[in-house]
Amino acid sequence: MRIDLHAHSTASDGTDTPAELVRNAAAEGLDVVALTDHDTVGGYAEAADAVRALDGALTLVTGAELSCRLGGTSLHMLAYLFDPAEPTLAAERELVRDDRVPRAKGMVARLRDLGVPITWEQVARIAGNGSVGRPHVASALVELGVVETVSDAFTEEWLADGGRAYVEKHELDPFDAIRLVKGAGGVTVFAHPAAAKRGRTIPEAAIAELAAAGLDGIEVDHMDHDEPTRARLRALAAELGLLATGSSDYHGSRKSCRLGEYTTDPEVYREISRRATGAVPITAI
Ligand code: AMP
Ligand code: FE
Ligand code: FE
Ligand code: ZN
Repeated sequence: MRIDLHAHSTASDGTDTPAELVRNAAAEGLDVVALTDHDTVGGYAEAADAVRALDGALTLVTGAELSCRLGGTSLHMLAYLFDPAEPTLAAERELVRDDRVPRAKGMVARLRDLGVPITWEQVARIAGNGSVGRPHVASALVELGVVETVSDAFTEEWLADGGRAYVEKHELDPFDAIRLVKGAGGVTVFAHPAAAKRGRTIPEAAIAELAAAGLDGIEVDHMDHDEPTRARLRALAAELGLLATGSSDYHGSRKSCRLGEYTTDPEVYREISRRATGAVPITAI
């Protein structure tokens, strides 16, 4: 069983449409893929249709990656198999998603002040109907020849946390996020908790508090964690009684990782689906 529990589509900052993501996951030989767009469930319907149209036996886990902030540090909370119609969580997702638009416009304004001829129209065209974020702004900077790659835009000079053109967005308190996702029947996994190259991370003591508040797991095997970091996180998960997952965090051509580059143990996946009551994984009938 090959299980990848973290992937993005054009519903947020990935470059595969939800249907392409499903077909690519099947072509990669994955058995299970989770659709985890930032702060949105907008890709679910198309992805589910694509799964039902497949010959093979790919299972789709519906999810989202919720933008959170704790004590000034941004972090990402993966949520799986929650009820997308549960109104309290849906309203919170909408707040975060809606605030992404004025925030992206703010980053465009800062870049223009810095002499970059970027426009909101350009960023809006790149983002399409997706939940707009820094990777879309970064793609505009690549188009303009300001930087060579999307990653190159994530520096102090441009869009990194605290960078010259960085603007904050509304983000959830992760304790609220855990509670809200549980209330919608879902399961939470703290995404890339020690990805230091993305900016500040929270201390282990805070992860312990999240665990005590009902966090289900942490993402251990991830491209942004080196081997010693994974070993440390695996030990922390065992100590705190958390599930340990692995996943690609696939973003199509916007990032270098491949679907299925890191995977989750089948027993861990079974436990996640056992705990979830908000939705069931989708398979071809
Ligand atoms: P946002 O949610 O708009 O603040 O953008 C965060 C997203 O930017 C993440 O989900 C990643 O997809 C992307 N990102 C963050 N840091 C980096 C980085 N160093 N290189 C490439 N992409 C990054
Ligand atoms: Fe992303
Ligand atoms: Fe993330
Ligand atoms: Zn992600």
